[in-house]
Amino acid sequence: LKKLSDYVKHWSYSSWSVGQKCTLALWYAQVERLRGPPVPAMERGTMLHLLAENYLKGEIQGMPRALRKIEFELKQLKRKRPIVEQYWNLDTHWRKTNKKNGWAVAKLDACVLPTERNPVADVVDHKSGKEYEPEHSKQGSLYGTFTMGMYPFVETVHVAFFYIDQGYAPSYTYTRAKLNYTKQYWIEQGNELMATSKFIATPTPNGCRFCSFRSDKKLENGQRGPCNKWKGVVSRW
Ligand code: SF4
Repeated sequence: LKKLSDYVKHWSYSSWSVGQKCTLALWYAQVERLRGPPVPAMERGTMLHLLAENYLKGEIQGMPRALRKIEFELKQLKRKRPIVEQYWNLDTHWRKTNKKNGWAVAKLDACVLPTERNPVADVVDHKSGKEYEPEHSKQGSLYGTFTMGMYPFVETVHVAFFYIDQGYAPSYTYTRAKLNYTKQYWIEQGNELMATSKFIATPTPNGCRFCSFRSDKKLENGQRGPCNKWKGVVSRW
């Protein structure tokens, strides 16, 4: 049986998260590369990300109205001169590598990098819409662990989620001891994901609800989604 790693060389939080819910959806997204059409919520999310990025880079004067609910946190972050919108790549040993050899990949919205003198990192992920716990705590754990792979001397990583629409910024702190543990966890998770060889429909109310591959939705190419297994759980929504 062919494994996911025979088709794709990288995994990210998003592919891991899809694989946790339904491996058939993972197949459609990663192997067949099917995409749903852009929806207004996604377009708005992209616009807010871009605004926050430009604000942090100093390319926008003043605080844009759409970011006002998170103004305090953004101002504090900007003062610390973060890097913004950067791709990070790690190899199978969790060591920094280039894009070509990346095994685990992440796109950072913003990060105040650690230094030898101050081995503390602040990672920030911008979110639009409502909070979806507990998924962000897993994402926080992965981003914290990623930071240790990129900057092995880091002692503490704070990962914050800036909920732009809610004006709320929950954060998670990872110490070195915790990161040593989560590093093993994420390497195992990555290996397990890439070894996936059975791509089976696993319909669940939450998984199917937001899935782009449902037969009652249209794909980017205008055709209907390929999966009708969601019908078994529709009555539970
Ligand atoms: S609709 Fe449900 S069962 Fe079908 S691919 Fe999506 S998540 Fe899986």
